[in-house]
Amino acid sequence: MAKAVGIDLGTTNSVIAVMEGGRPEVIVNAEGNRTTPSVVAYKGDERLVGQIARRQAALNPQATLFEVKRFIGRRWDEVKDEAARSPFTVKEGPGGSVRITVDGKDYAPEQVSAEVLRKLVADASAKLGQKITDAVITVPAYFDNSQREATKQAGEIAGLNVLRVINEPTAAALAYGLERKGNETVLVFDLGGGTFDVTILELGDGVFEVKSTSGDTALGGADFDQRIVDWLAEEFNKEHNFDLRKDKQALQRLIEAAEKAKIELSNASETSISLPFITFDPETRTPLHLERTLTRAKFEELTADLLKRVRKPVEQALSDAKLSASDINEVILVGGSTRIPAVKRIVQDITGKTPNESVNPDEAVALGAAVQAGIIQGDSSLGDIVLVDVTPLTLGVEVQGGMIAPMITRNTTVPAKKTEIYTTAQDNQPGVEINVLQGERPMAADNKSLGRFKLEGIPPMRAGQAQIEVTFDIDANGILHVTAKEKTTGKESSIRIENTTTLDKNDVERMVKEAEENAEADKLRKEKVEKRNALAQLRLQATQQLDEHANAPQDARDRLKAVADEAEEAVNSDDDSRIADVQKRLEDELRDFMTKGAQAQPEAGATSASAAEDDVIDADFKPADDK
Ligand code: ADP
Ligand code: MG
Repeated sequence: MAKAVGIDLGTTNSVIAVMEGGRPEVIVNAEGNRTTPSVVAYKGDERLVGQIARRQAALNPQATLFEVKRFIGRRWDEVKDEAARSPFTVKEGPGGSVRITVDGKDYAPEQVSAEVLRKLVADASAKLGQKITDAVITVPAYFDNSQREATKQAGEIAGLNVLRVINEPTAAALAYGLERKGNETVLVFDLGGGTFDVTILELGDGVFEVKSTSGDTALGGADFDQRIVDWLAEEFNKEHNFDLRKDKQALQRLIEAAEKAKIELSNASETSISLPFITFDPETRTPLHLERTLTRAKFEELTADLLKRVRKPVEQALSDAKLSASDINEVILVGGSTRIPAVKRIVQDITGKTPNESVNPDEAVALGAAVQAGIIQGDSSLGDIVLVDVTPLTLGVEVQGGMIAPMITRNTTVPAKKTEIYTTAQDNQPGVEINVLQGERPMAADNKSLGRFKLEGIPPMRAGQAQIEVTFDIDANGILHVTAKEKTTGKESSIRIENTTTLDKNDVERMVKEAEENAEADKLRKEKVEKRNALAQLRLQATQQLDEHANAPQDARDRLKAVADEAEEAVNSDDDSRIADVQKRLEDELRDFMTKGAQAQPEAGATSASAAEDDVIDADFKPADDK
């Protein structure tokens, strides 16, 4: 059985890990890095993923997609404002969903995330020497049902069998707690690029029990960057009366510079930001430059309200767990943004604890996901580990008066199942519409509707007589399934909650096919390039041989030269069979030349041709002058 991997599909960076000899290990990507930027760029019909995509962002701002996790499983009306700030085009899709447009083609956020997953898994498969198909993927604990479902679909589009979707802080706690003995209560504080999660767990005897979770799915390092971007743009605007944010390329450069400055301020008390030639003066057409110094104090002032926003979820998680700060034994920091000194300070301030920095904030989540994958695959080296997680938000149905009737309250252990009986409000009501909601507000309209479905064909009855049994069932992924049944008739209706923002089955199937075709096209493209490179290399070798053996018989020289010239042309042709033909003939000619032609009259003083040692030709073949 091929190994299952754990994947931290991050807003900013993603990491993949696997169990090796009883311990989770990060798998380095093809570039040799332990983290892979969650960035996808489209260039013509080519797709770039990871570092290579990130590097060309400023040159290709409209087709370089980053922080797409902010849009996954969301409704357009939830993300409108964020969409407006993005250098690439984000718009409303079918049924109020979100789509990203590149070169006139629409992509679902799930599709873009699938490209990141596909790269991680392809690189890992190559590294491990086995085709990986099974994965555990993590999500922020505070992700709602549609965000979870959409993440799972991203995995499916990438051709993966998603064994489980688990919460990032829970995964981090697994990585932390794997080698700890004894009982302790830990608080995991995860502030990444786009999301913020707090989870309180009790660990002991291999049991990892989540007590409560809270967070903010729209708070992360990118918001800190945005404050710097806004500050820079406003200062610049004051001086030059030009808003850099309106120029996509300038905006992308601002974002990159802002992040760099922020990271520097984690170690230095001030940093300089320099963006030469950021734009042109609209009137004089002379180039304009941006130069600024940002101090840590100013940065903290610009982000003071963001820092404040982390406080509430921590307090909420404590109160939901019925604990006070002094009950927490360890505070574990996860996510790149916990390196911001002011963030560390505020964590310490709220919890009264010096944060534990024993886990690597970039890797803990993926490592924990690999542990979970190991548990599911029955990895015996892990012993008996039990993971008890909770659902982050209350689930309920809409009832008379536009209220929400909670079915499963937040922080209920999952999997969970709950049944309630509802009835009709009017005489002879032929059916009911069930609106499934998620959120903490008392009025239905203030919460997120996960989907609606109808139960029809209720026989004529007085109001209040029908017995409609509604069952909510949350699986181990935190994903909800709902059924309803009219008890007097036994008529049943059920939905797997698929709201308008998640893709339907046909979409997913189409996207899987598309992604596979793309991967195939990428492979073919690569092979094409490789064939041409090989021929170009061989041609180079031939010309070197000709140079070194100027005294070889003229007819041998002419023959080789003729095929080498042919190769020069063929390299630029689209015709694969021609490439193969020329490659073969050039190999033959070159071999012939080097064994017979060149040996006949080696040029005096010719040195060993190092290029000839590139074993493009048969391995047992020796260059002629190497005797
Ligand atoms: P995610 O889980 O969302 O992918 P990460 O945990 O990788 O995110 O964190 C990425 C965020 O951390 C980015 O916003 C990045 O700018 C920020 N970050 C990384 N290193 C530092 C640092 N030294 N100081 C401040 N922020 C940092
Ligand atoms: Mg993360």
